[in-house]
Amino acid sequence: MTHTGFYPGSFDPLTNGHVDIVTRALGLVDRLVIGIGVHAGKTPLLTADTRRQLIEGVIAPLAKAAGTDVDLVEFDGLVVDAARQAGATMLIRGLRDTTDFDYETRMANMNHTLAPDIETIFLAASPAMSFISSTLVRQIAAMGGDVSGFVPSPVVTALKETMPLQK
Ligand code: ADP
Repeated sequence: MTHTGFYPGSFDPLTNGHVDIVTRALGLVDRLVIGIGVHAGKTPLLTADTRRQLIEGVIAPLAKAAGTDVDLVEFDGLVVDAARQAGATMLIRGLRDTTDFDYETRMANMNHTLAPDIETIFLAASPAMSFISSTLVRQIAAMGGDVSGFVPSPVVTALKETMPLQK
């Protein structure tokens, strides 16, 4: 049986925390589909195209090294619908702290009620990554701070292009 995992997120921008989760998920599934949420009403910092290109560039070598297929999709509806469409039976999510835990367990139970055939698998954030969030990265970059310790280098470049204030 082939196991396909679906890892949904905004990835606005992709951080080292996301990369850590993807790297570890690649060892758990035969195929990983990364779902980029593009919800109407939410104005992202980076366009869906830019987010897709950054994820592709960073993840492709990792997928090759792991020998796991990775696909990228954009979705704007329910996560479980996007996961089903991707042929996934597992939702991959990262847990950083109790705030994530409270939110994510509620989401997992709701998603399991909506789609009992799909299981949510939680991966605990690696300690060195557990304080990294896209929101903080956006805020630091907007104020000209150095985010190179928190995101892959192509993301630093993309943020510099989007936010000229950044050093
Ligand atoms: P969302 O808008 O769905 O929260 P994010 O892009 O912020 O999307 O996060 C996607 C997933 O990655 C979530 O499961 C989140 O908990 C996880 N994640 C985000 N940052 C980290 C991190 N630093 N370490 C581990 N998991 C993380």
